[in-house]
Amino acid sequence: MLELRDITAGYDRRAPAFRGAHLTLHPGESLGLLGPSGCGKSTLARVAALLHAPDRGTVTLDGHTVTGFHHRAPRSLRTSVGVVFQQPRLAADPRLRLRDLVAEPLRATGRRAEADSAVPEWAERVGLDADLLGRRPHEVSDGQLQRACLARALVLGPRWLVCDEMTAMLDSSTTAALVAVVEEYRAKTGAGLLAVGHDPVLLGRWCGRTTRWDEIVKD
Ligand code: ADP
Repeated sequence: MLELRDITAGYDRRAPAFRGAHLTLHPGESLGLLGPSGCGKSTLARVAALLHAPDRGTVTLDGHTVTGFHHRAPRSLRTSVGVVFQQPRLAADPRLRLRDLVAEPLRATGRRAEADSAVPEWAERVGLDADLLGRRPHEVSDGQLQRACLARALVLGPRWLVCDEMTAMLDSSTTAALVAVVEEYRAKTGAGLLAVGHDPVLLGRWCGRTTRWDEIVKD
């Protein structure tokens, strides 16, 4: 289970972005989190992905209480959550070829030997032409780069996936394709999904359950 209990977080301890957020995600579940721009969804998504330390509250992942975030999070917990952000150009290192972007989590966790087979396999699964793997981010479209970012998020086989407005920059056919990749991955692995967004139609179609921001926070 992924549990966020009484989370207060933000960028200034005296004036947090939100207080007292609660959220529970079960294995295999897809939960949509719907809220207006600026309410704190991305910040909460980053807390759930162990990338941002909350000011208060507890994150529990598969029974382990998380005591360190970002580079202080133990590798086994950090790698159990995959994350995809809204803007692939901000998320992807512009110097890396797409092949290395996808392979990097394997290299960083001592699984370099798997990259030769895993990278083309994942490129195919996310619908990225193999000849794009040699290009750098500025040489591909937003949709192609987001496909690479999704492959990178899934390459370690995470038990949890956080998609923060993953499709907000994309056209409808790329959106449908990427949602289908996530759903196939979930069906195969039983991973749990937290999909953050502002579009009730998309989240309603995509997720088994959708919750509104004002239902999970105190203020
Ligand atoms: P949402 O994802 O719902 O649009 P965010 O979590 O991005 O909301 O932002 C919540 C609040 O935190 C906003 O007021 C935003 O301006 C602020 N914020 C977001 N990122 C930062 C940052 N890196 N530094 C300071 N304030 C930030």
